Amino acid sequence: MKIKSAQFAVSAPDLASCPRSVLPEFAFIGRSNVGKSSLINLLTEKPDLAKVSDLPGKTRLINFFTINGNWTLVDLPGYGYAKVAREDRLEFNTAVRDYLGQRANLRCVFALIDSRLEPQAMDLRFVHWLGSHSLPFVLVFTKVDKQSAQSSRNTMERFRQAMAQSTDARPRTFATSITTKTGRSEILGFIEQSLAKGKNKFVLAPMMNGPVRRTGDETATPEETGG
Ligand code: GDP
Repeated sequence: MKIKSAQFAVSAPDLASCPRSVLPEFAFIGRSNVGKSSLINLLTEKPDLAKVSDLPGKTRLINFFTINGNWTLVDLPGYGYAKVAREDRLEFNTAVRDYLGQRANLRCVFALIDSRLEPQAMDLRFVHWLGSHSLPFVLVFTKVDKQSAQSSRNTMERFRQAMAQSTDARPRTFATSITTKTGRSEILGFIEQSLAKGKNKFVLAPMMNGPVRRTGDETATPEETGG
């Protein structure tokens, strides 16, 4: 997919403030410093696009970017910062939980994971949560240029194995690097395919904020690209 236009649309503090839209949404989320802003800038080839999310006060907002006029890239606040009283509570804010759980036009979640790290409990809990809510998601292992391809393959495999212990989801996997542009065309190709598959899917149904059934077919193929 060629990126012809990429524009910041709006920031929303909660689900109710999210824009009414029928465009399919692809949401990016990960722990702070995982490389989310860098990846968004790489995908859109706009070096400053995701900067807005780093502005003071914006890091806890849901940021919407309109791409090519026909889909929306959603930059979700990172998880892992919230202090939680009970251990079984997931460490992301209510806005993110509501968005992920209820946004009708959410097409796929891109769960970003640092390729250099051993499986992190917080990341595993997050993908488990996605799986348990039947949300379509893929894994994106970032910063693969920082180590050998074999090391990245090993950590990705260990993550998949750890994940298999708590969820049946077998998400597609991407490996990315902003320095080598690894994974860029694969992710954009994946989004393009998803857009083609779901053409007109939401056109007749105005955006609703209620729970919806999603087909979840994006999670069906275990496949690794890039790296
Ligand atoms: P965010 O907090 O998840 O938005 O993370 P950033 O995009 O701000 O990235 C955090 C740091 O990692 C920055 O110093 C980036 O330059 C660096 N970084 C992000 N992605 C990559 C990558 O693919 N390769 C390398 N070498 N550095 C990266």
